[in-house]
Amino acid sequence: MSELPYAYEAPVSQALFDRAAAVTPGGVNSPVRAFRAVGGTPRFMVSGKGPYLTDADGRDYVDLVCSWGPMILGHSHPAVIDAVQAAVAHGTSFGTPGEGEVALAEEMVGRVEPLEQVRLVSSGTEATMSAIRLARGFTRRTKVIKFAGCYHGHVDSLLASAGSGVATFALPDTPGVTGAQAGDTIVLPYNDLEAVNEAFHRHPGEIACVITEASPGNMGVVPPRPGFNQGLKDACSENGALFVSDEVMTGFRTSRAGWFGVDGVRPDLMTFGKVMGGGFPAAAFGGRADIMAHLAPAGPVYQAGTLSGNPVATAAGLAQLRLLDDAAYATVDSVSAQIRALVTEALSKEGVAHRVQNASNMFSVFFADREVRDYEDAKRQESFRFTAFFHSMLAQGVYLPPSSFESWFVSTAHDEQAVQRIADALPAAARAAAEATAA
Ligand SMILES: *Cc1c(COP(=O)(O)O)cnc(C)c1O
Repeated sequence: MSELPYAYEAPVSQALFDRAAAVTPGGVNSPVRAFRAVGGTPRFMVSGKGPYLTDADGRDYVDLVCSWGPMILGHSHPAVIDAVQAAVAHGTSFGTPGEGEVALAEEMVGRVEPLEQVRLVSSGTEATMSAIRLARGFTRRTKVIKFAGCYHGHVDSLLASAGSGVATFALPDTPGVTGAQAGDTIVLPYNDLEAVNEAFHRHPGEIACVITEASPGNMGVVPPRPGFNQGLKDACSENGALFVSDEVMTGFRTSRAGWFGVDGVRPDLMTFGKVMGGGFPAAAFGGRADIMAHLAPAGPVYQAGTLSGNPVATAAGLAQLRLLDDAAYATVDSVSAQIRALVTEALSKEGVAHRVQNASNMFSVFFADREVRDYEDAKRQESFRFTAFFHSMLAQGVYLPPSSFESWFVSTAHDEQAVQRIADALPAAARAAAEATAA
């Protein structure tokens, strides 16, 4: 730890991490949590309240990860906790249909116009995996186009050039994915419509779907250029392929109707997760009713789940969505804008080259001297500056995503006091970024 100028001891977290490493690979259940990109001891959290997290050593942090997006009302929101407690009191899983899952599906369908039917699952990975299977079953084609730097969960066929942890660790290819699985995936540069049209030209009648993050947040925040999503939709329509918009991160976060509510481009299929689960494992895929009709038991494409539509998870998700009205989104957007302005000011004052990029209230900071439009641009950032910046913020009680390839998230609970702590921490963090040198 001594090589990290701003690191401080976290002995209880370190002891837990040592115990974890004995029984779990790398000591974590999801790779980026291990802090490998930034070094130091991952903080084991014991509680969350509003915009704050408290770690096992008793320190608290303003949380700018929000569980990677889901906690858009902050931690332990009383209405969500009440809904969960009420649901739990009736039992935790029945393996039968229940009203909660109908109500959650109705709420989602009511908000997102192209979403005619949904199927609930338990993770975003399951959602994208199932959407791809359905797209292939519906079109009777095999190939899938995805974009470098977009992450769609750890689905075998979608791990090629993925963002998030795959980007954080610069993993070239993932052992365990067969050539056949990877071979049906065509990976193209993001924001490059010409490459998409050329791929359709090269593979006539073979491409089942194009899957894209509605607005990518897993290589840092890299929004679609104007017309990009519409261009994808048009290319799909002209070539008999489906346009699959992955809204696991953006859904019910970037607006009441997610990214669809921002750009209005109608996907054939969509995937959801994160916010819709209210902090529980709930996710979904859905879209055109004529396509969804191909799903079992209505149709031949099989898909199932023991805990799908779980009554506790659906109660949490529904309680959260019901609180997400226009005023809530206005609050989250405004907090995001304030923090973006503060970061820009602090880094500019220290003369640090940077770009703060956002997609409505999602944002991230690239230590780069020009706009980041794709994964190649994102990889050119000076990540060593982020490491110094991250540890300075952490030492001052602000918890950022422990990687420069991840979006930052805020909530309705980020009040003046929380924003003030961020403002107070930024000058020293900006100085640390300015003084950082490449390893
Ligand atoms: C988080 C994420 C996923 C995967 O969701 P999990 O619940 O982690 O499996 C898929 N797509 C996008 C865009 C995501 O951000």
